[in-house]
Amino acid sequence: MNFVSLIEAKRDGFPLNAAQIRLLVDEFTAGRIPDYQMAAFLMAVYFQGLAPEETRELTLAMRDSGEKLEFPPDTRPLADKHSTGGVGDKVSLPLAPLLACLGFRVPMISGRGLGITGGTLDKLESIPGLSTAMSPAQIVDQVQRIGIAMAGQTETMIPADKKLYALRDVTGTVPSIPLIVASILSKKLAENIQYLVLDIKCGRGAFMPAIEKARQLAEALVELSEKCGVKTGAIISNMDFPLGRAAGNWLEIRETVDCLEGRGPADVMELVNACARRLLLLSGLEPDAEAANRKIRDCFASGAPLHKWEELLQAQGADMAEYRRRLAAGNLAPVVLELRADAPGFVSSLDARVIGEIVRDLGGGRLTKESVIYPEVGLDCLAKPGERLEAGALMGRVHARDGKSAASALERLRAAFVIVPHPSQTPPLILAAI
Ligand code: URA
Repeated sequence: MNFVSLIEAKRDGFPLNAAQIRLLVDEFTAGRIPDYQMAAFLMAVYFQGLAPEETRELTLAMRDSGEKLEFPPDTRPLADKHSTGGVGDKVSLPLAPLLACLGFRVPMISGRGLGITGGTLDKLESIPGLSTAMSPAQIVDQVQRIGIAMAGQTETMIPADKKLYALRDVTGTVPSIPLIVASILSKKLAENIQYLVLDIKCGRGAFMPAIEKARQLAEALVELSEKCGVKTGAIISNMDFPLGRAAGNWLEIRETVDCLEGRGPADVMELVNACARRLLLLSGLEPDAEAANRKIRDCFASGAPLHKWEELLQAQGADMAEYRRRLAAGNLAPVVLELRADAPGFVSSLDARVIGEIVRDLGGGRLTKESVIYPEVGLDCLAKPGERLEAGALMGRVHARDGKSAASALERLRAAFVIVPHPSQTPPLILAAI
């Protein structure tokens, strides 16, 4: 087969048929198309796009590149949530145990960091001993037992996405609607779920900075997911500012525990609640928004989601004694610097893109496929837009591996803030629901 002609066809804007798309996916997954050719193909798709039927075929070919989850009959609905990627976006981590406590089975297959956005798998793997490499049988068994598993694509499950995801991350080909749709839905369809909620990020720290593009992405995802038999809802949420007060793998695990202990930042909790509410309504487990809100509130108040989180960590091999020691220890990074306000004022903006870049450059994300992730680095205690600062107030902290990278990050963090003398209006977090 001549792959060059397929690359050329897409480069010149010609459609590919189902057989050609399947062949590309299968041959790449089997290692018979080198990365450089697939990178060229991805770039061609980035510029030329894919027609809806090509996107559907790509999604199904990626889903079929490995085994799927097969669940036994059970009264608990199968549900999941996925985000298109944000900075400080740890919503899946407190949400998944909450959903399991609300009566869902949650076989969550996530990704690693992509571009400047963090990944659920990298965050989870900052927990000592915890593994996200699970076989389909292990995922099904754990979900049936405790209602939840959080795993990654493997050589046997959606291997095509595992390889394509890593290649897109380092070739500038992430922000493409058909590639995002195929990546997300190949994973979700391989889970065999019945209900899905999508959090489409929109703004400076998202792959879709403009609301029109975010809406197009949301509609493409919902349409294809529904066509494939999954009841799906989407929200579009603001990603101009980082979510929560922490960005960085281990620091976001700490913030997740805050959420589960009832001390989470308001914006993270707003999205956790919105996603849970949507799934309760989609599945018919609750009749209306008010009943769903009550159920979520009572569930958090019972402490059950925190216990479920610990059950999840234990089931996936976490060293719980070391995990607790690290939670209690405070900072893990060798160098921690504080940014303090020079003068009183109000936070009017904090650029999510710059925050994502700082975390990546500290070692929390990847610049090449081989990049090593340093879980302990990142930013926390970030002041939020709308907040009033007194002179000397803490605006954020840098957690770094050495003094040089810490000092550089601190200066970039200072420049990422816009401080104004008078309060300004902050935009809503949830921009639309689809
Ligand atoms: N999440 C995914 O799983 N894939 C993408 O392409 C973007 C976000």
